[in-house]
Amino acid sequence: MEKNSAIIVGGGIGGLTAAIALGKKGYPSIVLEQAEAFAPVGAGIQLGPNAFHMFERLGIAQLVQEKCSYPEAGLMRDMYSAEIVGDLPMGDAMIKRYGNPYAVVHRGHLHNVLVDACIRLGNIELKTNSKLISYEDKTNHVIANLENGASLSGCVLIGADGVWSGVRKQMIGADSVPQNLGYFAYRAVCNSDDIPEDLFENTVTLWAGPGFHIMHYPLEGGKLFNLVAVFRSARFARGESDYGGPDELQEIFASAHPKARRLLEFIDTSKNWNISVLEPIKDWSCGRVMLIGDAAHPMLQAMAQGACQAIEDGVCLADFVEKNHGDYQKAFLATQNARQMRATQMQYQSRKYWEIYHAAGVYSELRKKMLIRGAAEAIESVAWAYDPVTWE
Ligand SMILES: Cc1cc2nc3c(=O)[nH]c(=O)nc-3n(C[C@H](O)[C@H](O)[C@H](O)COP(=O)(O)OP(=O)(O)OC[C@H]3O[C@@H](n4cnc5c(N)ncnc54)[C@H](O)[C@@H]3O)c2cc1C
Repeated sequence: MEKNSAIIVGGGIGGLTAAIALGKKGYPSIVLEQAEAFAPVGAGIQLGPNAFHMFERLGIAQLVQEKCSYPEAGLMRDMYSAEIVGDLPMGDAMIKRYGNPYAVVHRGHLHNVLVDACIRLGNIELKTNSKLISYEDKTNHVIANLENGASLSGCVLIGADGVWSGVRKQMIGADSVPQNLGYFAYRAVCNSDDIPEDLFENTVTLWAGPGFHIMHYPLEGGKLFNLVAVFRSARFARGESDYGGPDELQEIFASAHPKARRLLEFIDTSKNWNISVLEPIKDWSCGRVMLIGDAAHPMLQAMAQGACQAIEDGVCLADFVEKNHGDYQKAFLATQNARQMRATQMQYQSRKYWEIYHAAGVYSELRKKMLIRGAAEAIESVAWAYDPVTWE
């Protein structure tokens, strides 16, 4: 199967979805994952209705939905006063308008559904401990060179290797390396029993402050509670070397509302994520190599759409491979054509929302004016993101 298979680099949400979408249409693939197991960071992820439109097409919507929880609303609270300054109805209102739910799920559970779907298809080879270090485009096939010394050949190579994509770096060069935005994220998933009742809400809640925020939502039907705390590091901005640590996290949140500070007590301070950005790249493919997901269009998490967009990429690519009777190079160009403006709009809107989240002073008053509106208007405002997408 090797030479006819597409080599997919990265067994994240994007890589696995692309493998399933191709596999369902009879196109085999090999998924190379550098880690020991297909097991993402143990945190939650939000899935907009647009992700479920894709899961329906892959025949796994029901399986994913069984693992999900369903928040009643997306709330924005002012970091200092706890006042609600934005309200997006979710629950039944989302299903009624978009035909699919807004859901949250543990990444590990979503991954299990995707890995099982790959195994069931029978034409997808999943390889762990397989870190790609370089590839060679041989015009009529590609070779993937792995860190463990092995080389594999395939008909094409799909870089689904995330925001720090090595495939992108080889394809485009060092200019395509993301830049540190100076923000740092800490996460946690805890038992909901440990969360005091007055802090628990069945909502996706964002506490928004100038240059810092907390996001939380329950998982597993309320058994678990997912938290993310993010802040802009003043030390990084001043060019100091000791930045982004737990001490700075505490310093920045010292001025927050007491409830937000109590939520911070549940954050796992053993590891942080540096938030990086990359301007949209012009070409997603070169010859027999294509980028998808965060490798092609990394975005800030403010719209909670990075994974949703990676999922759309995989489905779209498989549609064009089928439409072009297995001519991947034509499919690569068609996929970029169909997807680039949507992904770029997500990148752009995510940056805009990032600013709105972190608005200060009078801008934060404007934010409230903009975001407090009727339920129907609020739910309609995201139609561009959640309505089903089609590609010709
Ligand atoms: C704090 C935070 C919250 C977020 N919340 C949401 C959300 O709620 N909803 C949402 O849609 N998105 C969210 N995102 C964004 C989302 O996580 C990403 O957009 C999504 O994971 C991208 O999927 P991907 O498959 O393209 O890349 P990744 O998930 O990064 O997967 C890449 C995979 O490639 C592997 N890999 C990398 N290099 C190599 C190599 N050389 N060889 C082999 N394997 C390799 C990695 O180990 C990894 O498994 C969030 C991001 C952050 C940081």
